[in-house]
Amino acid sequence: MELNLSNYPDYNQFREARFHLINRLRERGIRDERILKAMGKIPRELFIDPAFVSQAYEDVALPIDCNQTISQPYTVAFMTHCLNIKEGDKVLEIGTGSGYQAILLYLLGARVYTVERIYELHIKATKTLERLGVKVFSKWGDGSLGWSEFAPYDGIIVTAAAPKVPEPLLKQLAINGRLVIPVGDRSTQVMYVITKISDNKYLEEHEQYFKFVPLIGEEGWTNG
Ligand code: SAM
Repeated sequence: MELNLSNYPDYNQFREARFHLINRLRERGIRDERILKAMGKIPRELFIDPAFVSQAYEDVALPIDCNQTISQPYTVAFMTHCLNIKEGDKVLEIGTGSGYQAILLYLLGARVYTVERIYELHIKATKTLERLGVKVFSKWGDGSLGWSEFAPYDGIIVTAAAPKVPEPLLKQLAINGRLVIPVGDRSTQVMYVITKISDNKYLEEHEQYFKFVPLIGEEGWTNG
């Protein structure tokens, strides 16, 4: 999959910065060349609050609108690696935010479904993705309940912190599908990687600690 850059003539302006970010991720232990190559194509400056453009290619989380954040590139790469997707896989993302993670999944050849609970972010991300010629299915709503209409998914990635693993997401996984989700309290979370072995059997692995904004919804935290 490729981006359509005809609506973004300044794309090459950050070419070197993109290259340096990818080297930084390699140094930090990301070895998956498919992920690194795809991330090296994404103009991250289009996904952040314009006041932070000078930091667009630092390996840090940055503000987007509505008090939310775009995740740190290392975190995006790590979670995508855990998801282990193949071309053609159907993947559900919970927490569209800026749309950056969705575009990465698209570039890796996935059929992407993404849900965002904040209407303004849903609209803005949809526009950014359209501008770059990226086709994903996006919805405004409570992603803690998944998106049952298109289940089952080969992968589900939750980019907000959950107090527990939402039951509907486990149900919406295909057999051999993986759920990658940060679980913990509001200040730190452990990255869970859950593989569905059969209809009621799961393998649960725990990875590193991270810090995400909360997953707010019926199967997440209450607002406030
Ligand atoms: N993946 C995003 C990106 O690439 O920019 C970053 C996501 S940001 C860290 C977390 C997002 O999850 C926020 O935009 C927040 O509004 C959203 N969110 C929180 N609870 C949600 C829910 N129940 N359903 C859908 N989105 C939710």
